[in-house]
Amino acid sequence: MIASFLSQHGQYHDDRYFRDITTIRMGGHIRHFVLPNTVDDVREIISFLKHNKIQFKVIGNGSNLICGESEFDGVVMCLKNLDSYEIQNDEVYVEAGVLAPVLANVLAKQGLSCLEFASGIPGCLGGLIYMNAGAYKGSMADVVKEVLVLKDDELVWMSNEEMKFSYRHSVLHDHPHWVVIAARLKLVRKPSEVIEELMADRLSRRRQTQPLDKPSAGSCFRNPDDGYAWKLIDGIGYRGYAINDVSVSEKHSNFIVNNGSGKADEYLQIAYEIQDKVKEKYGIKLVMEVEKFNC
Ligand SMILES: Cc1cc2nc3c(=O)[nH]c(=O)nc-3n(C[C@H](O)[C@H](O)[C@H](O)COP(=O)(O)OP(=O)(O)OC[C@H]3O[C@@H](n4cnc5c(N)ncnc54)[C@H](O)[C@@H]3O)c2cc1C
Repeated sequence: MIASFLSQHGQYHDDRYFRDITTIRMGGHIRHFVLPNTVDDVREIISFLKHNKIQFKVIGNGSNLICGESEFDGVVMCLKNLDSYEIQNDEVYVEAGVLAPVLANVLAKQGLSCLEFASGIPGCLGGLIYMNAGAYKGSMADVVKEVLVLKDDELVWMSNEEMKFSYRHSVLHDHPHWVVIAARLKLVRKPSEVIEELMADRLSRRRQTQPLDKPSAGSCFRNPDDGYAWKLIDGIGYRGYAINDVSVSEKHSNFIVNNGSGKADEYLQIAYEIQDKVKEKYGIKLVMEVEKFNC
């Protein structure tokens, strides 16, 4: 019954694994995986899942998720097919499934400043808004005008203030069943060359400092209030530390990477060891930025 309903509202798969749909390439079988075709499909699916009390998870590009090996006996709904955008004067209307680097490049070519800070963040707009993703002192909070959210079967435009953005946090963390459908972002005109140069510079800094050649979920920990997580991890001697195929990156010690057949429990064991040792040595509690799911 679930499979046939989902097939009517999107691309349906029963043979997907979390390792296929997350950037860290870890995790077990997903019983039902669906990519809805339209906003109406998202509404219909969510209402069906809630009515039938079926557990579900909405995802974008899976770039902040650490998923376990056991089967997820529910529905994973990926919004990547909601991938349209429209530039209207000083704003862009963008659907949740658009990849941030794709939109950043389109805007740059048209001389529109907005997502330079996000041009190297490999997530979809819905995921970036959920996380208030950011880099180089910019974050989604700076560019979001308003967000179209599917709340309890109703589509509601929420203002920037109502999104309650703070460091890697938004109001969505308190409402796991609300779904970002689209957003309006502010645009500022600037010469394309200036925007493209800034993006190229940041991309080259990322390439120099981050292990972009290995599967990861980005930074494992948030930076503490006055400092950097990587310095604390270096301080306890964990750069390069490994359990089987999972290791703390030699290039950036706040990245934990998958060197082949790594598993979430190995990733988490390393992360917990780091938390314990940093607490013991510095009295600081490192908070995970990555999200554990189904483990
Ligand atoms: C190499 C690398 C570099 C990175 N660099 C950065 C960086 O510089 N700055 C930074 O902040 N992050 C960074 N990240 C982490 C990650 O890309 C961000 O957290 C991003 O915002 C996640 O987007 P996503 O679409 O992949 O979300 P997912 O991982 O798919 O989901 C993350 C969370 O968002 C929720 N979610 C996703 N879409 C929706 C939606 N439409 N509605 C409601 N909830 C939703 C999910 O349920 C989940 O809880 C990096 C990751 C990698 C792999």
